[in-house]
This record gives sequence, C-alpha cells and structure tokens, in this order.
Amino acid sequence: MIYLNGKFIPLEEAYIPVLDRGFIFGDGVYEVIPAYSRKPFRLEEHLNRLQHSLDGIRLKNPFSNAEWKNLLEQLIAKNNGEDQYIYLHITRGVAKRDHAFPVNVPPTVFIMSNPLLPPPVELLASGASAITAIDNRWIRCDVKAISLLPNVLLRQLAVDVHALETILIRDGFLTEGAASNIFIVSNNVLLAPPKSHLMLPGITYDVVLELAAANGIPHEIRQISEHEIRKADEILLTSSTKEIMPITLLDNQAVGSGRPGELFARLHTLYQDYKATHMRGRSCGCDN
Ligand code: PMP
Repeated sequence: MIYLNGKFIPLEEAYIPVLDRGFIFGDGVYEVIPAYSRKPFRLEEHLNRLQHSLDGIRLKNPFSNAEWKNLLEQLIAKNNGEDQYIYLHITRGVAKRDHAFPVNVPPTVFIMSNPLLPPPVELLASGASAITAIDNRWIRCDVKAISLLPNVLLRQLAVDVHALETILIRDGFLTEGAASNIFIVSNNVLLAPPKSHLMLPGITYDVVLELAAANGIPHEIRQISEHEIRKADEILLTSSTKEIMPITLLDNQAVGSGRPGELFARLHTLYQDYKATHMRGRSCGCDN
C-alpha cells in the first residue's frame, strides 16, 4: 500500500497526471526514512531536513510534523516487514507547463514503503569497491531534490565497472558519494567533510559523528583533499539504507590494508547498538 494525495491505495492503482511538475521539471523534494521494528529512525531529523529541502525550493510543507508522523505510522502498519524504508516525495503539483511557479495548486504527495534489508554480511566482511569522479552536480546539493539526473549518471559509472559507489571530488576536495556520505580514516582519526551546500547533510553522517564523539573516537570535520582520499587507511560510506560500509578498493587500488579496518568495525558495532536502543525506546524522537 502507498499513500497518494490523501488516500492509501495499492501501488498498482497509483497514477499521477503527466503534467505533474515532478514529471515535467523534476520540481520536488524527497526523503528516505528507515524504520526499524516499525519505528521510524531519527524521524525528527529527517523531517527537519525535509523542511530545509522544501524551504530550498520555496514549497510550503503540506503537513505538520505530527501529521507526517501519523501518516508514516499508518503506512508502516499497512505494509509487511518489521524493517522498512519509507520514501516520501512532494512535488509542486499539476499545472500547465510553465517554468514559473503555479498559483494555488496543491502539491502532489506520494509516500511508499519497502522492506529494508541490511547490507549483505559478505560485503561487510570483504568491503566494497568504489570509483572516483568529478562532482558535476549543481551547487545546492544540500537540498534533497528529486531531480537526480547527475547522481544517476555518476552512480552508473560505478555500476558499469561493478563498483558500489562513485565518490565525488569537487575542486580537489571530497564532497560525498552519488547517494551516500563518505568519511576517511587517516592516522587513526576519523575525517568528515564539513556540511555545506555542496553535500547532503546525511542523517547517518550525523549519527556516526555523534557516536564518535560519545565514544572517544578521535575525529575531525574538515576539507579532505583528493590526495588524502587516495592514501587513506580506511574509507567509510554511510546512508540510511546502507548504514555504514567499508570501501576497500578505490579506483582499483587497495584502501589501506585492503580489508575493512578497525574503525569501521568499531563504528559498525556502535551503530548496531544505537539502532537496538532505538528499537527498544520510544516510537520516534518527534513530539510535535
Ligand atoms: N548524499 C546523498 C547524495 C544521498 O543521496 C544520500 C542518501 N539519501 C546521502 C548522502 C546519505 O544521507 P542519509 O544518511 O540521510 O541517508
């Protein structure tokens, strides 16, 4: 079951008009929210980021946080699986094709939920491969826009060579992955690129930095040069659906020892513990 413009219906029955601005212009934003044991994870943070994206494209939020929470809980209840990931998508609605914003047009709101599978254990044990590419996206990468053509093309470069992700470099510095955030480990220090308009402020990125701070893991938030990526001891990838993964091969060169490193192992365990605490705790961190 999915949610479309006020109704819960089967996916097969869900249609939108061809003049939807999401279809015509990619004029909309989205969020991906994991739910563990049917409880949305870091919901308040995801809803705050959604608000930031909506503000970035000057689209009014159709719902309050309490209304979002209620809708998501209903959708999770109507779908199978203890662990699910929710995809929610808001566009500027249906209107005669014209670049200018339409007046008094309701947004299109679509939400679906799919089973959430953890990354395969074999991949966590061996590590994944990645390639690098020049980050040729627009400069509002902090907005989670549905117009993902550059990300799609960049990710496909990795798929073409059987790699998991494309790591993006802009003006000689690491930004993020095509659909993930990237950390490196250098001399036992976890390094993260600073949040800016050049990367998506990842919810998992925040969790990893919080876990590092709470557990005495040395970490620094600063620009990371391409040279530092290439001589990193470890490279870590984070996203809501992939959690935290080790990258052990970059552009066909071994990363550090070529095996998942110690800091990965530590952060992965901390992340799993943090998830378990969430599952035992309240249904979400969202009161309003
Ligand atoms: N950057 C990009 C471009 C992404 O698409 C994603 C995945 N949504 C991320 C980073 C990771 O963000 P999060 O941890 O919130 O899933």
